[in-house]
Amino acid sequence: MRIVFLGPPGAGKGTQAKLIVKDYHIRQLSTGDLLRENLNRGTELGVKAQAYMVGGNLVPDSVILSMVGEEFQKPELSAGYILDGFPRTYPQADGLDQLLKEQNQSLDHVLVLNVPDSELIRRLTARRSCSECGHIYNLVFNPPKLDGVCDHDGSPLIHRSDDTEETVVNRLKVYQNQTKPLVDHYKPQGLIRNIDGTGDVQEIYQRILTALK
Ligand code: AMP
Repeated sequence: MRIVFLGPPGAGKGTQAKLIVKDYHIRQLSTGDLLRENLNRGTELGVKAQAYMVGGNLVPDSVILSMVGEEFQKPELSAGYILDGFPRTYPQADGLDQLLKEQNQSLDHVLVLNVPDSELIRRLTARRSCSECGHIYNLVFNPPKLDGVCDHDGSPLIHRSDDTEETVVNRLKVYQNQTKPLVDHYKPQGLIRNIDGTGDVQEIYQRILTALK
């Protein structure tokens, strides 16, 4: 199963992707996670990406495409994958088409997780994640049992530096202008599955399962 996951920041792509990965035994490839890993390790790629990420702007397509191209060489992806946060622009979608062609593959679904902007701002500014296992919490509707500490492994929770209100507003604009139009790229192929991203995590997941059947 090969899936592209579209949806604005804060729609819950990361959370839902982790559930899909478990049930379908496929890999999650999150360009945001890969970039943050590079940033933390201080790699050349991380240094290049940092200024864009801090402002909530997109990292240049050439950087993203070479990073994803490398990931596509790895055997771990052969059982299937869910692309979370990629593609985000038309050139990236064209680059993905090219990668798929080279590997004689095609996509099965493009999930589009829809959530109203007002709800996204509320969710993102209250989002926290575990510094170790990456589990995602929300201080308003899914808080950890102990303040600032992960329920699963006791590690400290972090607030992403690009989850401030100002950056979030810019990230939403970038999504509307550059990423949402990709729906038109995939529509003619009959791949679009629109999902209502409001409600609780399990309720949303059930909608996704129905769409993937
Ligand atoms: P995310 O975790 O998907 O919200 O991504 C965090 C940030 O990483 C974004 O705001 C962008 O700066 C950058 N980023 C992640 N994926 C991409 C991509 N496919 N293209 C360009 N920039 C990206």
